[in-house]
Amino acid sequence: MAVVERGSRRGQVVHLHPTEPALHVDQVSRRFDGRRGLTTALADVSLDVRQGEFVCVVGPSGCGKSTLLDLLAGHQRPDTGHVWAHGAEVVGPDPRRMMIFQDHALFPWLSVRQNVELGLRLAGVARAERRRRATGWLERVHLERFADALVHELSGGMRQRVSIARALALDPDVLLMDEPFAALDAQTRDLLHGELQALWRETGKTVVFITHNVREAVLLGDRVVVMTAHPGTIRRIVPVDLPRPRHMEDPGLIDLARGVLADLRDEVPGAPAQAAG
Ligand code: ADP
Repeated sequence: MAVVERGSRRGQVVHLHPTEPALHVDQVSRRFDGRRGLTTALADVSLDVRQGEFVCVVGPSGCGKSTLLDLLAGHQRPDTGHVWAHGAEVVGPDPRRMMIFQDHALFPWLSVRQNVELGLRLAGVARAERRRRATGWLERVHLERFADALVHELSGGMRQRVSIARALALDPDVLLMDEPFAALDAQTRDLLHGELQALWRETGKTVVFITHNVREAVLLGDRVVVMTAHPGTIRRIVPVDLPRPRHMEDPGLIDLARGVLADLRDEVPGAPAQAAG
């Protein structure tokens, strides 16, 4: 089979076989020595994510979801095991893997356009090209009219669109999303679900998406990784073979979500049904 050439940025050419996973987590453990003693945030976690795949991760609070994302981003290193991205071991952050957070992490003193352009500026992209790319992404997330607005002038959904545009402007291979829509109202969240699915289809990015909302996970994911807490392990990986575009009210989706929720209730006896979203 042919070998595809990916990302010749910064002079670095990565040859990746089409069947090679974009992300490879191999028997990873991570412990923290906190005030309440030693916590095993992740124990022997292994996971492969295919190129272009959309993987959602659900699990009770404290099961290590954010830690897993941090390891994939390269913000933390595992105590044992290895994390690989695009054929190389992850040893630190890399613009090919962009994180998107719930709280936007935008700079309030910069305009929308400046926020989107900042990463490009730091990456040494020339001014005209920065402007061109930022304009394109702002149009793509329907924010072109707000290019000169300041972040505090935007709604939560608009801010999250800026975060997505800022990440995609850097043309990463992987988007790592940590509960990005958790703080949004249901209507805005529905809109962003549609937009994110369209962007993912068009760009072919690999996405790892953390959520508390089981229905959201089944709506968006090719697979849903169900985690257990204390220690954080993978309990089950659920393939979602439902046609796209999907809708929250699809009976097949609700059925699958019910199964995942039953897993989570096993984990946290008495967990509220509302976690199904
Ligand atoms: P989740 O995202 O699923 O809620 P986390 O990855 O944030 O879980 O945390 C997993 C476990 O590790 C929790 O018990 C948490 O308290 C602990 N933990 C995470 N980060 C730290 C840290 N920097 N110091 C001490 N304990 C931590």
